[in-house]
Amino acid sequence: MYLFSGLKEQLQGYLDTSQVKVVEQAYIFARNAHDGQLRSSGDPYITHPVAVAKILASLHLDHQTIMAALLHDVIEDCEVTREQLTDTFDERVADLVDGVSKLTQIKFRSREEAQAENFQKMMMAMVEDLRVVLIKLADRLHNMRTLGSLRPDKQRRIAKETIEIYAPIANRLGMYAIRSELEELGFAAKYPMRYRVIRESVKKARGNRKEIVTSICNNIQSRLDMENIIAEVIGREKSPFSIYQKMQEKLGEKVHVFTDVMDVYGFRVTTDSEDNCYRILGQLHNLYRPVPGRFKDYIAIPKANGYQSLHTTLKGPHGLHIEVQTRTTSMDQMADNGVAAHWLYKTGNDINRAEIRAREWMRNLLELHKNTGDPLEFIESVKVDLFPDEVYIFTPNGNIIELPRNATPVDFAYAIHTDVGNSCIACKVDGKIAALSSELTNGQTVEIITAPGAKPNPGWLSFATTSKARTNIRQFIKNLRRDDAINLGKRLLEKALGNRSLSSIDNEVIKRVEKETHHESFDDILVEIGLGQTASIIIAHRINPDLEASAKPAEGDNLPLAIKGTEGMMIEYAKCCHPIPGDPIVGSISNSGGFILHRQDCNNVANHEAHLDKYVPVQWEKDIEGEFRVELRVEVVNQHGVLAKVTSLIADEGVNIANIELNSKDGTTNHICFLIDVKHRLRLANLIRKIRLYDFVIKVSRHR
Ligand code: MN
Repeated sequence: MYLFSGLKEQLQGYLDTSQVKVVEQAYIFARNAHDGQLRSSGDPYITHPVAVAKILASLHLDHQTIMAALLHDVIEDCEVTREQLTDTFDERVADLVDGVSKLTQIKFRSREEAQAENFQKMMMAMVEDLRVVLIKLADRLHNMRTLGSLRPDKQRRIAKETIEIYAPIANRLGMYAIRSELEELGFAAKYPMRYRVIRESVKKARGNRKEIVTSICNNIQSRLDMENIIAEVIGREKSPFSIYQKMQEKLGEKVHVFTDVMDVYGFRVTTDSEDNCYRILGQLHNLYRPVPGRFKDYIAIPKANGYQSLHTTLKGPHGLHIEVQTRTTSMDQMADNGVAAHWLYKTGNDINRAEIRAREWMRNLLELHKNTGDPLEFIESVKVDLFPDEVYIFTPNGNIIELPRNATPVDFAYAIHTDVGNSCIACKVDGKIAALSSELTNGQTVEIITAPGAKPNPGWLSFATTSKARTNIRQFIKNLRRDDAINLGKRLLEKALGNRSLSSIDNEVIKRVEKETHHESFDDILVEIGLGQTASIIIAHRINPDLEASAKPAEGDNLPLAIKGTEGMMIEYAKCCHPIPGDPIVGSISNSGGFILHRQDCNNVANHEAHLDKYVPVQWEKDIEGEFRVELRVEVVNQHGVLAKVTSLIADEGVNIANIELNSKDGTTNHICFLIDVKHRLRLANLIRKIRLYDFVIKVSRHR
C-alpha cells in the first residue's frame, strides 16, 4: 500500500499541486531513509512520520511543516545530515527538522536537571519557530496513541512527561483538542486502574444523565428560540482525566466521591456574534438562578492562551449545578486549536488572539532565559507560567496587568517594570495600604509606592509567584549575600587574629594564604568564612602560624561578637522571638551559614549555655542604627474606632507598621497583632506604656 495516498488526499484539500509534489518528495526521501527500520509495534518505521504529518495536515499546517514532519526523525535515526536536507529541499525545512532533532536528542532522564535542560531547549526552539513545537507535539501525540507496545515502566515515564510538560505546553498555546487527548492518553498510561474505574463509572452514569442533559438542552434551546437568538446548545461530558483532577482538588474538602463531581452538568452554547453571547447569558440567568461568584467573562478579558468564552454556573432543576460556556463559532474553533487556528482558518485580517498571546509569552520567555543561567531555575519559573490560572489587576491608570493566581503586589510591581519591583516599599490595594504579601484577586486596582534607593527584600521570595519577580529577587540576593558574607567573614577573621585589622597584614602574607588555600582572591576566603564553610581560626593560623592553637585565646577573644544591625543577610533575626537592641541575645549558627539571633529567654534556645558548640555569644553594639521587627499583641474591648486609635498612636510615635492582624476572641474583645519596626527596647517600652493608657486596652504584650 502506498502510505502517502491518505496524506495526499488531506493535503490536496488545502495546498497547491506544486506544494503537494514537494511534500511527496519528502515522503519518498523519508521512506528510503527509514527503509528496514521497525517501530516497537512491528510496523515499518515510516508509518510514524506519516501519522505525525497527518495530524499536522488536519490542522492545515503549511507544506514546509508537513515536509519537516515526514523528515523529523531522519537526522536522529538515519545519519542524514542537515546539509543533505538543505541541498535536497530548502533551508527552512532543514531548520525545522534540525530543531525537532535537537529536542529529541536529550531524552527525559531521571535526573531533574536533564529534564529541565531539555525543557529549556524546547522553549527556546519554540521561540525561534513555533512550528518546531507543533511538530514535536504531533510527534508526541502519535507516540502516545501507540504507547501500548512499549514496556510498562517506559509507558509510565513517557506518560508522566506528557502530563507534566507536553500537555501544559499545548494548553499554553491554546490547543485544547491536542492537550486533552495528551492528558487522557497520559492518564490512562500512568494510572491504568484509576482510568478504568472512572471510565466505567462514567459509562454507568451516562444512562441516568442522558435524560437530564436532553431536557436541560431543550429548555435552553426553546428559550433562545423564543427570543429569536440563533444558537446551538450541546451537552458536554467530562473526560476521565478532568474528573480525576476535580476529585484530587476536592481531596482536602472531605467530600471527594465520584457522584459529587458527576453532579455537575456541562453545556456549551455557540452562536454567531459576541453580542449574542451576552444576550444568551442574560437569558440563561433568567431561566435558571445563577450561582453567585461563578460568572467569568473571558470574552472581555481573554485567558493568557487567547481562550475566549463566557462561563457561568446555574442552579438547575432538582438543585443540579449546570456549567455553561457561551461563545462564538470562531472563538470555539480558537478554543480547540489555539495558535494552530492561524493555519486552519485563514480569515484574512482576522487577528489570531491566541497567536498574539503566544508570541508575547515567548518574548517573555526569551527575556527570562537571558536572566537565568540555571536550567532548573528556568523550568521552575516557566512552570508557573504554564498553568495560567490568572488574575487581572488594574494599574491606577486603568491598564490591565495579567498575573497568575496567588500573585502579590510584589509580582505586580515587577510585572510593571523591574525597576519598580526593585524599589518598591509599600502598596495600596483599592486605595488602602496593604501588605506586599497580600494575595491579589481579580479586578483590584493596585498602586505601588517606591522609594529611591530601596532594595528588594529577600523575604519576598517566600510569597512572590511570578518568574519575573523571583528571578530578579534571586539575582539581587546573590550579589547581596556575597557582599554581606565578605563583611562578616572579615570581622570574624579579625577577631580570630586577636582583633588585629586585616589591613595591617602584609600583602605577601595575603598572597601566600590565597595560594595555600587555592583561592583566586582573598574575598573568596572571606566569603567562605562568612558563610561558615571555613573556620576563621584556620585562616588566622595560616596568616600567623605563631598564633597558639589550643592555648588561651587572645585577649579580647572572650568578648562576644558585636552585632551592628548592618550585617544584612548574614545575620537573621529569629521570627520566634524578634530580638531588638537592648534585649540580651545569643547567636545560633544556621544551616545555610551565618547566624540567627534569638533572645536569650527564647524557648528555642533554651539551654544555650550548655551547648557552646552550637551557639555564639553575641551582644549589641552601642549605638545601633536601623529598625528591628517586633510583634506586639494588644487586647482591646470591642468598640467602635479602637483599631484606628491604636494604629494612629503607633504611627504618631514614628513607628512603622509592617502588618496588622485582627482576631475576634469573642463578641466583646479583640486581639490585634501588630508587626512593627522599632529602634530599641526602650522605645518599645515607651510605646507599650502609651498604648496602655487607653481605657479600652485590656492588655499589651510583646510576643515571644
Ligand atoms: Mn518521532
